[in-house]
Amino acid sequence: NNQAIVIGSGIAGLAASIRLANKGYQVQVFEANAYPGGKLSEINLEGYRFDAGPSLFTLPEQVDELFALSGKNPREYFQYRKLPVNCQYFWEDGTRITAYADIDKFMEEVHAKLGENPKNIQRALDRSSFIYRYLSPLFMHRSLHQGSTWFNKNALKAYLRMGKFGLFQTMHRSNSEQFKHPKLVQLFNRYATYNGSNPYQTPATLTIIPHLEFNRGAYFPENGMHAITLSLYALARDLGVQFHFNQKVERILVENNRAKGILVQGAVQAADLVVNNMDMVNAYKSLLNDQRQPKRLLQQPKSSSALIFYWGIRKEFSELDLHNILFSDNYAKEFEHIFSKKTIYSDPTVYINITSVYKKDDAPDNCMNWFTMINVPNNQGQDWEALKTEARAAIIAKINRILGTDIAPLIAVEEVLEPLTIESKTSSANGALYGNSSNNRYAAFLRHANFSSIDGLYFCGGSVHPGGGIPLCLLSAKITAEMIPEH
Ligand code: FAD
Repeated sequence: NNQAIVIGSGIAGLAASIRLANKGYQVQVFEANAYPGGKLSEINLEGYRFDAGPSLFTLPEQVDELFALSGKNPREYFQYRKLPVNCQYFWEDGTRITAYADIDKFMEEVHAKLGENPKNIQRALDRSSFIYRYLSPLFMHRSLHQGSTWFNKNALKAYLRMGKFGLFQTMHRSNSEQFKHPKLVQLFNRYATYNGSNPYQTPATLTIIPHLEFNRGAYFPENGMHAITLSLYALARDLGVQFHFNQKVERILVENNRAKGILVQGAVQAADLVVNNMDMVNAYKSLLNDQRQPKRLLQQPKSSSALIFYWGIRKEFSELDLHNILFSDNYAKEFEHIFSKKTIYSDPTVYINITSVYKKDDAPDNCMNWFTMINVPNNQGQDWEALKTEARAAIIAKINRILGTDIAPLIAVEEVLEPLTIESKTSSANGALYGNSSNNRYAAFLRHANFSSIDGLYFCGGSVHPGGGIPLCLLSAKITAEMIPEH
C-alpha cells in the first residue's frame, strides 16, 4: 500500500486521514499532543467538563459524510440534536432576545422586543441564502487555485450575479441598510466573529453565516463538541489509520522538489505523500524553513483570538441557555480595540457557553460549566498577564450587572486559555482562532492552497483554503483528498 503521513490530528487532519484511508492509503498520523483534536478537545476540572474550543456546530452532515463514505452508519458513532434556541442575547438596558431556531418565532420575538418589521429579517435571511447558494460551490467546495473551479456552470452562474454578493460593502453597512434597530444590526454584525473577523471591515459577503445558523440550523452533539473529535478518531482507527501521539514532527523531507516523508524525534519516516494539518505559517517557519517561502501568504493578517475562562459555577441560572451573549454597549469601539489598537475594550461582549444545559453530567448537581469567552486581538506581544487580570474583572462586572448577581463567589474552579496558550497547545500562528482574518475582499484568494509547489505535499486545516471553523476545516480536508489519486 502507498504510505501517507498526516501531520496533526486537528479536525481537518482527522478528516483527511479518513478520506485517504478510503482511497486505499496506509495512513499514519503524527500528533504533537498526547490527544487528538487540536482545538476541538476538552478540559476536565474537578467534576466539570468543558469543550475547550469550538462550541457552535453547523452543517453536521459534513461529519456524517465521513461515516457514509467509509460504509458506516454515522448514528452508531455520533449523535446530535437540532437546537430549538440558537442563542440568548442580553443587553445592559435589560433587553433580552431569544433567537429561536424557528424563524417565524424569531421574527415575532424581534418585532415584540425591538419593533423591527419581520420582513426586514426575512429579506436579510433570503439574501444570505442567495449568496450562499451561488458562492459556496466556488469558495467553499473547491480549490480556488485550479482553473477548473473558474470555468464551469456554477462559476458562470456566480459571475452573472457578481454585483449582488456584497463584495464592495462591509457587513456592518449591509446590516445597517437591512435593519432599522441598532440592536438587530449588532446581533447580525456578530456573525463576523464566527470566523474571527471585524464586521466593520469584512465584506457583506460574509452575511452567508446567518444562513447556516438560521436556515440550516445549529446543532449540539449529544456528548458535547468533543464527541466530534472522538467519533472521527474512532472511525479513523476502525479504518486502520495509525496514530502516533506525543510525536512532534520536526521537518518535512523534500528531495528534488518532492515530499519524501518527515523527520520526527530524530527518525526518518518515509511516505509517498504528506498532508500537513499544522498551522501553515508555523509549518513554513519550522518544518519547511529550507524551502521557498510563500512570503505574501505568510504575511496576511490573522483572525482574532480569544480569552476564555472555564468556570465551574456553583449555581444554576434558568435564564441561561447553551449559547448566551452579553453584548457590549459599544460594538464599534470593541472591534476598534481588537483589530486596530490590538488590545481589549473595557466593556467587552461576553459569550457564555454552557453544555451542562443539555448534558447534565458536565457539571455537578445544581451547578453549571461556564465557558466564558471574549474576543481579543491575536498575539502581538501584548502583556497578557495584565490584560487577563483586567479583562477578568470587566467580565465579572458585566455578568453581575446583567444577571443582577455576584458570580465571583460562585466560581468553584477556573482554568484560563489565551492567545499564548492557544499557540503553544495547537501551534496556531499568533494564537489566532481561524487562521487568516477575512477583513478584506481579497482574503479568500490570499490563503494557502490545499496543495503546494512541492510535489506530494498537501495542506488542510483552518490556516489554509477555505478557512477556519469546523465546517470549512472539514471541506478543506475534502478538497485536499480530492486532489490525491486513489490507490
Ligand atoms: P487544529 O485544531 O489547529 O490542530 C492542529 C493540530 O496539529 C494540533 O493537534 C497540533 O498539536 C498538531 N500539530 C501542530 N504542529 C505539529 C507538529 N509539528 N507535529 C505534530 N503535530 C502538530 N470553530 C467552529 O466551527 N465553531 C466554533 O464555535 C469555534 N469556536 C472556537 C473557539 C475557540 C476558543 C477556538 C480555539 C477555536 C474555535 N473555532 C470554532 C475554530 C476551530 O476550532 C478551528 O478552526 C478548527 O478546530 C481548526 O482545526 P484544524 O484542523 O485546522 O487543526
